[in-house]
Amino acid sequence: MVEVIQDGAVVSLAYTLRLANGEVIDYSEVDEPLEYLHGAENIIPGLERELTGMHVGESKEVQVEPAEGYGVYDPEDIEVVQRDLLPKNMPLKLGMVLAITDEEGNLSEAVVREISARDVTLDFNHPLAGQKLFFSVQVVGLREATEEELEHGHPHGDHDHEFDDFDDEDFEDLLDFEDEDYEDDEDFEDDEDISLKN
Ligand code: ZN
Repeated sequence: MVEVIQDGAVVSLAYTLRLANGEVIDYSEVDEPLEYLHGAENIIPGLERELTGMHVGESKEVQVEPAEGYGVYDPEDIEVVQRDLLPKNMPLKLGMVLAITDEEGNLSEAVVREISARDVTLDFNHPLAGQKLFFSVQVVGLREATEEELEHGHPHGDHDHEFDDFDDEDFEDLLDFEDEDYEDDEDFEDDEDISLKN
């Protein structure tokens, strides 16, 4: 029996995430909470640490600095890519987020900042980099993780497999673009998971 949030516990969390200007950018309600495995880096470190020791029913306001959230904005983390290196039929829009896999298979996301006839400027900073985050959280449920969940490093709910998404999906490899598949959408405001994922 797990009494409080600790490593190896599967936590069901209702939360609202706001930016400094009050804008709500993500939330999960009590009847459809986020499930994550505590201590497995499923969620950003600044939030995970503050949740440690909380019990079911408890609520809290948590402020997370950029360094412990989605990172400090790095103006060097921008790349200009020749447009003809991207799939030809790829619809490009300013501000859209591309999911990109590099040669080593690491997944990253880039925001399209500029589009010219020849080049596309990609910003590899997380869309929320540099933002201070304001969470209102409520612990909805708590249980011990199964052996399999601990092995995988994420919970296995019956309703979803959200932490498996990155293993399953076929992301376009910009550096090996024979495959015409690409992930063009990932608009972070519409994606319920992205703001809590690492
Ligand atoms: Zn799994």
